[in-house]
Amino acid sequence: MARQKVSVEPKPFFWVPLDKERPPQKYEPPTHESYRDWSGRLKLELEVVSDYLFVGSGEFGLFTLQGCERSYYAFARRNDQLIIPGTGIKGAVRSVVEAISNSCVRQIAKGERVPQLHEGCKNENSLCPACRLFGSTGHRGRVHFSDAVLLSQVEPTKIKIADLWPPRQTKGRKFYQAKQFQPLDMQPKKNHRFLEVVPKGTRFQTTLYFENTTAAEMGIMMRAIGLDGDQGDAVVSAFPIKLGGAKPRCLGAVRWKLVGLHLITPSSNLLAALSTGGEQMPISDSVRTWLADHTLLNDKAWTKFRDQARSLNEPCPREVY
Ligand SMILES: [Zn+2]
Repeated sequence: MARQKVSVEPKPFFWVPLDKERPPQKYEPPTHESYRDWSGRLKLELEVVSDYLFVGSGEFGLFTLQGCERSYYAFARRNDQLIIPGTGIKGAVRSVVEAISNSCVRQIAKGERVPQLHEGCKNENSLCPACRLFGSTGHRGRVHFSDAVLLSQVEPTKIKIADLWPPRQTKGRKFYQAKQFQPLDMQPKKNHRFLEVVPKGTRFQTTLYFENTTAAEMGIMMRAIGLDGDQGDAVVSAFPIKLGGAKPRCLGAVRWKLVGLHLITPSSNLLAALSTGGEQMPISDSVRTWLADHTLLNDKAWTKFRDQARSLNEPCPREVY
């Protein structure tokens, strides 16, 4: 049975254990009525740093291979242009925020059990950091990403991968590393599939909208996209984060760059600020302020995440592991 085959190649993922001693810090979420704290938008560039990125649309395409028509899993599109849906970006960033802020566990596989301390928040008046920021049942979130669009034209290509068998047991929160994709020949084969992908170096642009967030919340958002301000004066991109599908095949590592910040300041005329979308501000001062606030950060989980999520110059397993 394929599932019992054991690979000697190192596994491409790591676990961030749940904090067994501390429950998530739960508070009442802020209301949406007025603009206090931090509100505005941050323009971001995403660059694919793994060999490929695959963001599925749930649709299939057909292509001709050695004279035969074959189906492939198509990349997401809007008006014929490749996109990364904002909801997908939000989900990926949320899972990192959950880990580094000791939040509840939202995404669980079938049959998995979450220890009671970290079960999903149920009371909308008492929410963990991730539920307060991203939303939960009965509470609209305060951070949103626009669909990411291409910064320059790129020709998508097709690759073949072996089907994925996720491991069953759980040891906390699981994340995939950034290793090198191992190409397979393009011969159709049982338990393999074709994906439409974009290559390394492809750049997308998205906007993060935030309203009524605290500096501590913005700090964990910035860390969740791989930024680190603890290594001297400069804010650096410490690791890529993973987007899209086929992460166990080492696809989807993306590095983030901040390109523009607009803030709606509490002192400015709110109506005017809303109609113009706020004032353009220097990015680095704000980001440093956000990263300096460690209130919501779980240091142990953050250190583990930062060390394990770095790009590795190692091959990704080709088959089952
Ligand atoms: Zn929660």
